[in-house]
Amino acid sequence: MQLYIAIKSIVMAIALVAGFSLFFFKVYRLVSLMQAVQGKVVFKPDRIFDRIKVLFTDVLGQSNVRRKRMPGLAHTLIFFGFLAVQPHSLELMIRGVFAGFHPAVWIPGLYGAYIFMADILAFLVLFGLGYALNRRLFIKPKYLTDGLDARFIILFTAVIIITFHLINAFLMVPAINGSGFNYSRYLTVSAAVHHIFFLNDLSPEAARTGFEAFYWIHILAILGFLIYIPGSKHLHLLAAAPNVFLKSLQRPRAMITTDIEDEEAESFGLGKVCELNWKQVLDLYACTECGRCEEQCPADMTGKPLSPKRVIQDTKHDLFDQSQMVLAKNYDSVVPLVQDASPICQDVLWSCTTCRACEDICPVDIQHLDIILEARKYQVLMESSFPPEVQETFTSLENQSNPWGFGSDARGDWAKGLDVPLMTDNPDADILYFVGCAGSFDDRGKKIARAMAHVLKKAGVNFAILGEEERCNGDVARRAGNEYLAQMMISENLEILNQYRPKKILAACPHCYNVLKNEYPQFGARYDVVHHAEFLLDLVHQGRLKAKGGLGIENLTFHDSCYLGRWNGIFEAPRQLLRSINNDGNLIEMKRSAAEGLCCGAGGARMFMEEAIGKRINHERAQEVIATGATQVAAACPFCITMLTDGIADNNSSVEVKDIAEILDEATN
Ligand code: SF4
Ligand code: SF4
Repeated sequence: MQLYIAIKSIVMAIALVAGFSLFFFKVYRLVSLMQAVQGKVVFKPDRIFDRIKVLFTDVLGQSNVRRKRMPGLAHTLIFFGFLAVQPHSLELMIRGVFAGFHPAVWIPGLYGAYIFMADILAFLVLFGLGYALNRRLFIKPKYLTDGLDARFIILFTAVIIITFHLINAFLMVPAINGSGFNYSRYLTVSAAVHHIFFLNDLSPEAARTGFEAFYWIHILAILGFLIYIPGSKHLHLLAAAPNVFLKSLQRPRAMITTDIEDEEAESFGLGKVCELNWKQVLDLYACTECGRCEEQCPADMTGKPLSPKRVIQDTKHDLFDQSQMVLAKNYDSVVPLVQDASPICQDVLWSCTTCRACEDICPVDIQHLDIILEARKYQVLMESSFPPEVQETFTSLENQSNPWGFGSDARGDWAKGLDVPLMTDNPDADILYFVGCAGSFDDRGKKIARAMAHVLKKAGVNFAILGEEERCNGDVARRAGNEYLAQMMISENLEILNQYRPKKILAACPHCYNVLKNEYPQFGARYDVVHHAEFLLDLVHQGRLKAKGGLGIENLTFHDSCYLGRWNGIFEAPRQLLRSINNDGNLIEMKRSAAEGLCCGAGGARMFMEEAIGKRINHERAQEVIATGATQVAAACPFCITMLTDGIADNNSSVEVKDIAEILDEATN
């Protein structure tokens, strides 16, 4: 026996040194890869206490994971049970090397409490694993990555948990338990295993053999798992917590800005994986392949070749495939990320509506858009490669500062006959109404702009517009990758805005609102910007608008604009506004609404591109509108209004589509 203990001690020491060395070597390579990439990180990991709080809510609290009830519950059971088993496994490893070691000798009460809790939590893991297996074998959601890797992980975990219980069941046998610790006082599940298999009736030799067999299976499974993790889909076990800790606390509602005047820059945007920054590489490592982003993605659900999960995974595989060159800093030899034959091809890149559904749902806070939009930027600025119809939009923006190419001198024509003052006439106006291209030129948008003017006048708001002086806000050009053009228009607007220094800017378009509020500060312009959903609600609360009474739209529904909702967190204001003026009617929620609302298909400059692949996104959304049985759908974005109107007409439905400003205008004197 003494000889066996001595040999076991040596073998265990060798196994531990080999296993941990291999693990740390793999981790070292992953960290080296993060250090070898060239991109600059665009945020500072500050506010440590807030970050610790995020760790508690997002990682320990599993808040993001639990947004999907059953998979979230299963993951929570596996997460906590697996964590709970680890100190016990470590104890077993140490006891393998130093046979006399047992923590219960020093802290019997604490050890007893721990083993009691770990015994129950470990058992619950089996339910989580059962559900995970059931999803892979029977439920089979399309977005869930299944394969040998995932099943291997389930198997490893199951072996670790089952052997945990068997080892503890054997430790209740007096001949095996050399520590004097009273296991039977604290164990429940393992005690049941002990009794079911009549382990006390075994001979000491048989009990020792059984214990040692399960002990070695457990230790080898743990070490195998450790070595396997860094190269598997379970890399997220190592990367998810750091990624969440280092996430942008104030999720940037802005695109990454490029210094286009940097004469030393060799390239703009993201052309190769070596141009990622270390935080983006950590994002890639952190992906759990849960597929939640893919499930929410409007492009994927309508048959486009884009899946945000695959973008992350394909970028990761590209990085791993070229890791030798990246580690050697041989950047010139790294092949481009986007190529016709590569998984991330042009159709993938240009299918994105920048709706942010993927980022919003991601349990580990991955920022897909930083990759997609930076790759678009590279394609446009460095390769002049973009869908052909976008050229016309760029030309219109360049020549007339609007995507349709209407004469820029007609920008204020929508207001003719409405007695709307210009900023040149009323430079001290309380409100600068930034009308935007849709409100200024698009026929449907102009109706919304006129309704806005009526409502503002009825409420006695001292406002003015820029008229001909206004330029396109830059959103379409930026999202389409043309940072030069966007910055040109932004600087023209800045010149005008800085001249008037408006007290408050009001936008009735979420794209104008987002860019003016969140992206203009990147260029030094910090103005108080408000979206009309919040501004109009405020007017109603102040009692500045008098209801006609009797509006009562029976069965009204509301469509969230991505740039108002997910990008800026404004979900409630438009709903409150509608409820306040539509006392007699229902406000019905669609199948997908608020943070999980479905895009209309127009964002990310998609409004100005063909949608030739798969089902049209606005058709999908229109069908969700129609399915509510609503007679009217409200929105708070001119692009959404156009897309929904077309989608509903194409579905031969008579549901009316109105902006909240139009509904408020009709409802008030
Ligand atoms: S932003 Fe929207 S369209 Fe783009 S990848 Fe994410 S979910 Fe899909
Ligand atoms: S990117 Fe996020 S949501 Fe998408 S598969 Fe990875 S972890 Fe899941």
